[in-house]
Amino acid sequence: MRVLIKGAGVAGLTLAHELTARGAAVEVAETAQHVGGGASWFAGGMLAPWCESESAPAPVLALGREAADWWDAVLPGHVIRNGTLVVAPTRDTGELARFAARTSGCDWLDADQIAALEPDLAGRFRKALLFRDEAHLDPRRAITALHATLQASGVRFYLGAVPDFPEAGFDHVVDCTGAHAIGQAADLRGVRGEMLMLETPDVSLSRPVRLLHPRIPLYVVPRGDSRFMIGATMIESDDAGPVSARSLMELLNAAYALHPAFGEARVFETGAGVRPAYPDNLPRLAFDGDTIRLNGFYRHGFLLAPSMAKSAAIRIVGRMQADNGQQSLVHPRSLHPSGHKIIPLQSGAGR
Ligand SMILES: Cc1cc2nc3c(=O)[nH]c(=O)nc-3n(C[C@H](O)[C@H](O)[C@H](O)COP(=O)(O)OP(=O)(O)OC[C@H]3O[C@@H](n4cnc5c(N)ncnc54)[C@H](O)[C@@H]3O)c2cc1C
Repeated sequence: MRVLIKGAGVAGLTLAHELTARGAAVEVAETAQHVGGGASWFAGGMLAPWCESESAPAPVLALGREAADWWDAVLPGHVIRNGTLVVAPTRDTGELARFAARTSGCDWLDADQIAALEPDLAGRFRKALLFRDEAHLDPRRAITALHATLQASGVRFYLGAVPDFPEAGFDHVVDCTGAHAIGQAADLRGVRGEMLMLETPDVSLSRPVRLLHPRIPLYVVPRGDSRFMIGATMIESDDAGPVSARSLMELLNAAYALHPAFGEARVFETGAGVRPAYPDNLPRLAFDGDTIRLNGFYRHGFLLAPSMAKSAAIRIVGRMQADNGQQSLVHPRSLHPSGHKIIPLQSGAGR
């Protein structure tokens, strides 16, 4: 079976891996000159299903808990399993209790425990939550490494390809173009996420830290080499243009609130990505006429792509193609009662 995947973001690359593993001959066309030409390039790389479950629907936790193991197996050495630390300014400690009540999988830490875990945050917060089983990776390194792994296993890439890359001769064409499919994929919308990269030798962190704040919840993801990704805004817009002055100020203020040494950091990059999202903010494998779409990863591309790609590959290779419009593989009704496993939807299930 020959499959063409359009789009070499995290969705397209994970699907290429899962299809190749099932014996398909896969080719990938990407309009950018490098893999990760869209939202994937700007992601934090947090594999944080327990934290995300604070506001995300249940399938995000059910499907996302497999993600760290998948990345570890496919790209050994890329996943850092140090958990996530969640803190709040002293005046907002109530936010921590609220966050804990809406999530699971965390332990309360006092000031001494915070200092033991993250010495550079000593004395800055009285309480914190540690989500011990969460992990993170560097998205740019990960998708670059996945590209190399796929090439080594025979996947052919066309980087800088034209948007209407010729589809003749392929058994299936899968559109994984993320927010670029807005206007083509029914109900798909964009959620703008602005981020920046700071560099300072004066702060050291071993894990992502989330700062709860009523107005702009911020996270800081350590990238190594004194570099930190600071994210991210959530704006209902498909504008991928430069970061606004307001967002820049708010992100910097929040970073400064986490640690004043960020005030002296160098801003060496700002950027914005458009998260592709369906109305339920869950990804979908959709059969849209002749087009198969794997899209709608919203805030959870690195978290949910492994599980979704696996299910999609099973469906595509097994030719269990549904014949009536969009269907969500992560709709709660498609989950096994254990909450872990996806049962492929039957053809004509009509949701
Ligand atoms: C600031 C920010 C922080 C985030 N943090 C996290 C996080 O910590 N954890 C997490 O799991 N997720 C995170 N996300 C979400 C995640 O980045 C997205 O869910 C994910 O990148 C979507 O991947 P995708 O492959 O569907 O789309 P994209 O990454 O946008 O990839 C689509 C690709 O298709 C290409 N393309 C477009 N048109 C065509 C065409 N016609 N033909 C061929 N190729 C085409 C584009 O160039 C692009 O490379 C974050 C997102 C943002 C913006």
